[in-house]
Amino acid sequence: MRRIVFAHCFLLAIIASAQTDILYQVSTLDALVGGVYEGKTTLGSLKTHGDFGIGTFNAVDGEMMLIDGLFYRVDGTGKVSLAPETERTPFAAVTFFEPDITLRSDSPVSMDSLYRFIDGRLPSENLFYAVRIIGSFGAVRTRSVPRQTKPYVKLTEVVKTQPVFSFSDVKGMMVGFRCPSYAKTVNYAGFHMHFLAQEGEGGGHVLGFSADKVRIEIDVTDGFHLALPDDPEFYRVDLSGDEEAVKRVEK
Ligand code: ZN
Repeated sequence: MRRIVFAHCFLLAIIASAQTDILYQVSTLDALVGGVYEGKTTLGSLKTHGDFGIGTFNAVDGEMMLIDGLFYRVDGTGKVSLAPETERTPFAAVTFFEPDITLRSDSPVSMDSLYRFIDGRLPSENLFYAVRIIGSFGAVRTRSVPRQTKPYVKLTEVVKTQPVFSFSDVKGMMVGFRCPSYAKTVNYAGFHMHFLAQEGEGGGHVLGFSADKVRIEIDVTDGFHLALPDDPEFYRVDLSGDEEAVKRVEK
């Protein structure tokens, strides 16, 4: 009997560890870009799928960062606050963060150089990676999105007047994902990072940066779960693919 119990626990342990390497995503980036700004998933239920991630809130009320199980919001004015778990999200990607690879970069580098440095150390271009970059940055440029009101316009219109924030000589953390190019119809192919300044003085969706001295932690994520909204807006949105629109929104 004892042996059976042991075997059962062992199996549970295997299942638990396997589930932690899944990127769990609510809706698709194209749907968000297409104006599907309201979802039914609460932050509380999203947390059952991860303690780390990025996304946005209903009515695109700011940029979301999930760090160590806490949801941070950078709103349209740049203010940082904790979001209640009763709030809902139209788009988010989360995982349980357990770094497999740790790298260091100790001299000033541009965003593109750092991303190339990271890419050169990944086991494959074809997996998903959760990425955390912690340390000091010479400069960081971010944006956030002000809360939208109905009737909603597409995100490509919203970002034309997006508030942009600049930080210099700032300490903080970037969290996000590097998705493979074949994922481009559901998420952003490449690095999609959000920034939170250490003193809570700001953050947002990363547009560009230079890193001075940073530690890079990477969680190799070989599973992907896409939770599609059961929602008339999602059923109707045109997802036949507008790569240029996604680029305009993300860059
Ligand atoms: Zn973002």
